[in-house]
Amino acid sequence: MSDQNVLDKVSEHVRETALLESTQALLEWDERTGLPKQAGGFRAEQVTLLSGIIHRRKTDPRLGDQLRQLSQGPLARERNSQQGATIDRLLKDFERNARLPTSLVEALSKATVLGQQAWEKARHEDSWDQFQPHMEEIYSLRKQEAELLASGDTLYDALLDQYEEGAKSEELTKTFADLRDALIHLVQELSEAPRKPNGQSWRRPVPIENQRKVSRWIAEKIGYCFDRGRLDETSHPFCTTLGPDDCRILTRYQTNFFPSGFYGTLHEAGHGLYEQGLPTDWYGLPPGTFASLGVHESQSRLWENFVGRSSEFWQWCFPEVARQVGGAWDGLDAQAVYRDANLVAPSLIRVEADEVTYNLHILIRFEIEQELMAGELRVADAPQAWNARYEHYLGIKPPSNQDGILQDVHWSAGLIGYFPTYTLGNLYAAQLVEAAERDLGGLQPMFARGDFRPLLEWLRQKIHAFGFCYHPGELVQRACGTALDAQPLVDYLRSKLSAVYGQS
Ligand code: ZN
Repeated sequence: MSDQNVLDKVSEHVRETALLESTQALLEWDERTGLPKQAGGFRAEQVTLLSGIIHRRKTDPRLGDQLRQLSQGPLARERNSQQGATIDRLLKDFERNARLPTSLVEALSKATVLGQQAWEKARHEDSWDQFQPHMEEIYSLRKQEAELLASGDTLYDALLDQYEEGAKSEELTKTFADLRDALIHLVQELSEAPRKPNGQSWRRPVPIENQRKVSRWIAEKIGYCFDRGRLDETSHPFCTTLGPDDCRILTRYQTNFFPSGFYGTLHEAGHGLYEQGLPTDWYGLPPGTFASLGVHESQSRLWENFVGRSSEFWQWCFPEVARQVGGAWDGLDAQAVYRDANLVAPSLIRVEADEVTYNLHILIRFEIEQELMAGELRVADAPQAWNARYEHYLGIKPPSNQDGILQDVHWSAGLIGYFPTYTLGNLYAAQLVEAAERDLGGLQPMFARGDFRPLLEWLRQKIHAFGFCYHPGELVQRACGTALDAQPLVDYLRSKLSAVYGQS
C-alpha cells in the first residue's frame, strides 16, 4: 500500500474517532445546559461507554504500526505541512498513550472523579483536611505519569507539554518573572494614583433579558457566526466544538454585575472565532485542530481585553449598549464605563480578577505546582505556601482556604501544568496585537468605527488557518516575528492604565 493510501486510512480512522468525541462533547454540553436532575446516572453511563470506545480506537496497535511506517516515509519529511503535521502529532499522541499502563490511566481517572467530588465538598465546608489526601494521590499519580513520559526534561515539563506542546518551564519561569516584577510594581503605582475608577457603573442592575440581547449583538459584531454556533447559559462559561460547523459558547448573567455576562460572552466568542476559523476540511485532524491551550486563550483574551476594554471600543459601542439596556445606564457615558472596565484591585479570587492581577494569581499557582512536582514542597504545606505568596505578591491574606487554595477545580481534576497557559495566552495576545498593529496600522480607529474585520482576517491568516501544523511557540513567533516576551503585555497595560488612572 502506498504511503498516501496508508495516510488516507489513518485519517479515516482518526476522523471517526473525532465523530465519537464530538458526540461525547454534545452529551457534556447538554449536561451543562439543562440535564434533568435524575438523568445524571444514565448520562454517566453513556459518557463512560463512549470514553472506552474512544480510548480503544486511540490505542489500536494497527494505528501505531501505520503511523510508524508513515513517519519513515516521504510524507512525514515536511514536519509543518498538513500531512507531515498530521503524522507527527498523531504518532506523538499514540506513543504517549502507549507508554501509560492501563492501570495508571484507570487509577488517575478514578482519583480525579473522587477528587472533584471531594473538592466540591471540601471547598463548601472550607475543609483542607478533607481534600489533602486526594490532592496527594492525584499529584503522586501524575508524577508517575510524568516519570514515564519525561524525556530528559523536568517532570513538570512532561505535563506542561500536554497542554502547550514544546513549552519549557525554564523559559516560562524567566518570562513570567519579568512579568511578575513589572506587574507588582504597576499594582503598587496604581494603588497610589490620584484618579481611581470605582466600578459603580457595573453595579447598576440590568435585566437579564436585555443582557442576553446585548451579548448576542456584540458576539455577532466581532464576527462570531450564529449559523455555525449558538450562545447559551451555564454556571461556568465555556466554549465547545461539536463539529466543523457547530461551535457553541456559553456565558453567565448576573443582574447586578453587567460585565459577568458581557465580558464572559466576548471571552467565549473569542474562543469561538478561533474554532470557526480552523480549516473545516481537516476537522478532527491536527491541521483542523487548535494549536494549544495558550494559543486558544490568546484569542479569547484578545477580544475580551485588548479590544473589549479599549477606550475606542467603548466610544463605539456605548450608545448601542446604553440603548439596549433600557434606561439602566441613564446618566453614564462611554468614558465612565471604559474606566470601570479597567479597574485594577488585588482580590482573592482568580476568576474575578482584573487584567493585571490575574497574572499574579496564575504565577502563584505555577510556582506551587512546580515545587510540588519537584518534591520541594509537600502537599500538606501547600496552603501555607499559597497564603504566603498571596501576601507577598498581592498584599492580601486569604481569610480561609475556601477563598484560598480550595478555590479552583483544576488540581482536583488532575490538571497540573495547565494554569500557565492562561498567562501564556495573555502574553501571546499582547504580542499578536502589537504585530497586527504593525501590519495593519490604526487598529484603535477601526475599533472606534466598530470595524473588527481586518483584525479578525489577520488572525485567520496568521493563526487560525494553520491549525496545529506548528508548535504553539513557533506559530506565534511566525505571526509576530518575535519569541515569547513579557514586554508587549507590560507596555500595553502600563500605557492604558496610566491614562485611566490619571498619571500620564
Ligand atoms: Zn478561556
